[in-house]
Amino acid sequence: MNAPAKTVCPPLPDYHTHTRLCHHARGTPAEYRAAAALRGLPALAITDHAPNPVGYDPENRMGMADFRAYQEMLRPLRDNLAPAALYGVEADYHEGCEAYLPAWLRSQPFDIVLGSVHQIRNWDFDDPDQLGDWARVEVEAVWRKYFELVARMADTGWFDVAGHLDLPKKFGHRLRDDVLREIAAPALDALARAGMAVEINTSGLRKLVAEMYPSPLLLEMARERGIALSFGSDAHRPEDVGADFDKALALASAAGYTEHAVYRARRRTLMPLPDAV
Ligand code: ZN
Ligand code: FE
Ligand code: FE
Ligand code: ZN
Repeated sequence: MNAPAKTVCPPLPDYHTHTRLCHHARGTPAEYRAAAALRGLPALAITDHAPNPVGYDPENRMGMADFRAYQEMLRPLRDNLAPAALYGVEADYHEGCEAYLPAWLRSQPFDIVLGSVHQIRNWDFDDPDQLGDWARVEVEAVWRKYFELVARMADTGWFDVAGHLDLPKKFGHRLRDDVLREIAAPALDALARAGMAVEINTSGLRKLVAEMYPSPLLLEMARERGIALSFGSDAHRPEDVGADFDKALALASAAGYTEHAVYRARRRTLMPLPDAV
């Protein structure tokens, strides 16, 4: 494993990390935890892409048969040492998931479940290999459909944290702030009603958009609604654990946040934000 670029990091849990099982990430949970320890993080959650029994997006997730391996890799990390390694998953909300997802999520003793929308009508709009499809769609219509799905996701009550809340901006397809505000408001209202948190996901800084998810505007809208906040690197390699958490903490403070969410066994407590490092 390469050494992390920066070892000093605000002491915030990193609640969004992946593993080699999803076919597009590197590293094992133990390696992610070692990276978190190096950076002085108090906790991390391993939240790899959930397996899927109905054939949804198989290229980007572990198979059902790999799920046992996921559990086996995580089991030895469930000790009392620091940083705590939470048992998590990033589950997609997609059309058809009702048939299996709620029962599957209930069957596992997860600490934290991220809910993400990566697909609109079978289109993986955040997949670099399908970037060309953006030329054939109306950008505003994509955002509308996306936030409709986020609102429906929140209404299910199956998830703890909304992953990368404004993911459609990944390749730079942005909306004007006034348009975004109008389109996103019902989804944010639904997240607030559901008691879901949003994450500041620093991986956007590593994408074309070069901006964290969510934008300052959306984060402020979340804060106005009393929506809780967590932090995630969305690391797909151990050296990205805690990446840019100094910037994430500054963004949270600028949006008026003073607390962040801490999870265990899917129960949330709020902790004061640490001081900037
Ligand atoms: Zn991924
Ligand atoms: Fe995701
Ligand atoms: Fe992710
Ligand atoms: Zn993600």
